Amino acid sequence: MKKCALITGATSGIGLATAREFASHDIDLILTARRADRLAELKTELEATHGIEVLTLCFDIRNQEECAEAISKINRPVDILINNAGLARGLSSIEEGDLAHWEEMIDTNIKGLLYMTRLISPGMVKRKSGHIINLGSTASKEVYPKGNVYCATKFAVEALTKAIRADLYTHGIRVSQVSPAHVEETEFARVRFDWDQEKAKIYNDFNPLTSKDVAEAIYFMASRPPHVNVQDILMMGTQQAGGMLIDRSGRRYDH
Ligand code: NAP
Repeated sequence: MKKCALITGATSGIGLATAREFASHDIDLILTARRADRLAELKTELEATHGIEVLTLCFDIRNQEECAEAISKINRPVDILINNAGLARGLSSIEEGDLAHWEEMIDTNIKGLLYMTRLISPGMVKRKSGHIINLGSTASKEVYPKGNVYCATKFAVEALTKAIRADLYTHGIRVSQVSPAHVEETEFARVRFDWDQEKAKIYNDFNPLTSKDVAEAIYFMASRPPHVNVQDILMMGTQQAGGMLIDRSGRRYDH
């Protein structure tokens, strides 16, 4: 039987690129997100192109009951769980923060990841194998002005990656994190700025990573021999050297 990976947030950006990367390596997929039309299109594309099996599950990861109901429809072992669904909302100094944005980021980036891990990890423990890969960020490592709550959620992801590994490594389960800086070919900036196209133009003057770059790093982690656990990959575009260090002298790597 083929390996099976469950990817949350597969309708866009890094999750979508990871679905395509894993499909190209002949791995069956369980893809989740809220936009049913996009999930259906992706299933058709990947099954036709790669001859793999794709199960799609449409639900809001912030809702514990919806998560449990969706996961109960899976009737095969999940070998790899990729906790990718996540978002930033707004960019405000703490005294001006929007409470609804804070709730949305905490509920999606932390609680959603926890719900999925709680639902999928018991099967991995029973089988004594599995791999959980979380989407951290450079915002898991350093804060930046006005990034307060988003950075806090990504610091939490890093803490959970380490804590989950501490709980599961004796069961033969690998727990990893990928920590990218700016990534284009995603909807991340559009979501952050409420689909304001002007504000979301943050990659006009430098080349960040692409979603495919991150997908390839995730596949690299997942394809190591079973005795190897790549714990974290911290990655940035060449024109970025830190959260606040970006060479905005132009898009040097467009060809
Ligand atoms: P994206 O293009 O906006 O994709 C986010 C995905 O998450 C979408 O598929 C979205 O699907 C899903 N999602 C969001 N809220 C959800 C919810 N409540 N329930 C279910 N699914 C939900 O952004 P991305 O850049 O690929 O982000 C993926 C991950 O990478 C996030 O954890 C992000 O924090 C992290 N990251 C991004 C960057 C960057 O610069 N782009 C850098 C570092 C880390 P639906 O809307 O269809 O539900």
